[in-house]
Amino acid sequence: MDNKYHLETLAVQAGWNPKNGEPRVQPLVQSTTYKYATAQELADLFDLKAAGHFYTRLSNPTVEVLENKMAALCGGIGAIAVSSGQAATSTVAFNLCSAGDHIVSASTIYGGSTNLLGHSMAKIGIETTFVDQDAPESEIAAAIRPNTKFIFAETLSNPSVKVLDFDKFSRIAKAAGIPLVIDNTFPTPALCRPFEFGADIVTHSTSKFADGHACSLGGIVVDKGTFDYASSGKFPGLTTPDPSYHGLVYTETFGSAAFLAKARTHVMRDFGMMMAPMNAWLTNMNLETLALRMERHSSNAQKVAEFLSSHPKVEWVNYPGLESSPEHERAKKYLKGCSGVMTFGPKGGRKGAEKVMDSLKLAAIVCHVADARTGVLHPASTTHRQLSDEEQKATGILPELIRLSVGIEHVDDIIADLDNALKNV
Ligand SMILES: *Cc1c(COP(=O)(O)O)cnc(C)c1O
Repeated sequence: MDNKYHLETLAVQAGWNPKNGEPRVQPLVQSTTYKYATAQELADLFDLKAAGHFYTRLSNPTVEVLENKMAALCGGIGAIAVSSGQAATSTVAFNLCSAGDHIVSASTIYGGSTNLLGHSMAKIGIETTFVDQDAPESEIAAAIRPNTKFIFAETLSNPSVKVLDFDKFSRIAKAAGIPLVIDNTFPTPALCRPFEFGADIVTHSTSKFADGHACSLGGIVVDKGTFDYASSGKFPGLTTPDPSYHGLVYTETFGSAAFLAKARTHVMRDFGMMMAPMNAWLTNMNLETLALRMERHSSNAQKVAEFLSSHPKVEWVNYPGLESSPEHERAKKYLKGCSGVMTFGPKGGRKGAEKVMDSLKLAAIVCHVADARTGVLHPASTTHRQLSDEEQKATGILPELIRLSVGIEHVDDIIADLDNALKNV
């Protein structure tokens, strides 16, 4: 489908163009494998001389519809859908780094990503330096080493909802000659398209607002296709012969699609983190309402944040849509809406937070965030539990902090539920 259409139109229709007599709705191709008439045809696929599906660990027609839709929504040249948001981050790291390499990441990121980069990747020799994303440009740039392979940050951080200074981060990445990789899970392309602000690669946990109904785990890596790996000289995995593919050089064979080709034929082939077709089918269906949902999540959250910030039992509210927020100016610059997630601290510290959570009736206590139903979580005792006190502080987690994910129910019902729960503090 022609990508000149508006995002709302692409969300509904991109990725699947049925031919005469084919189903209007993309079919669920629940098959691991694909039949070919001759041995040579299959051999050509294995040699990457021909394009086509041959095994679902590498590609699947239903997953491909989702990949093409997300690429269109983000303004990228292509995408690779994987089993979770964690798999998306891992795919980028495995595709760009080897043992001995280094990553610079904003410290204010999702706790699972902090663990992945700070601990699991470190165990296999890929080290990460975490930087305060609000630190001066020179300080962040100083964290970059000759072996640094990418800079990682979130558009709107989970759970501290800080808005990334894209201008600063893209300048730093450009000067260093390395890609800027952005986790755009919370805004989704409906509220921010990081490629327009200097990102080279965008990841999403589609488990969150992209799916939006809390039914399927998934992740996706979208490539803008403009980073010049050959002239950067820092990515031998992409620019020198791959012995596991008969000496194929990705940048020579695939040009601007080198990153995605290697992610699929190397990382997916070997680590096997493909998205399941059923999850892709559901996520793709749910993406049809992405623009509508993100608008409503944002407007509901704005009203809830305003309500909470004037509530006598609430100590503080952190939502970039509030004019009092230090993130507000950047939110206006980079976001079309501030999404549905905020944090707030009720009076009474950790105990107060627990009281509020236990008294809520409509909002459920869930580990999840960013779906149609309003939910709450106490990160200090759950998602960020494995982090040390110092690590918790560095990611912005306070003991009384409640992460509130505002759904698309009627906002008056959400506010009444919170008002009632706060009476018990
Ligand atoms: C949830 C989340 C992830 C991890 O995604 P999963 O699908 O749960 O693996 C990564 N980044 C952000 C910002 C998230 O919110």
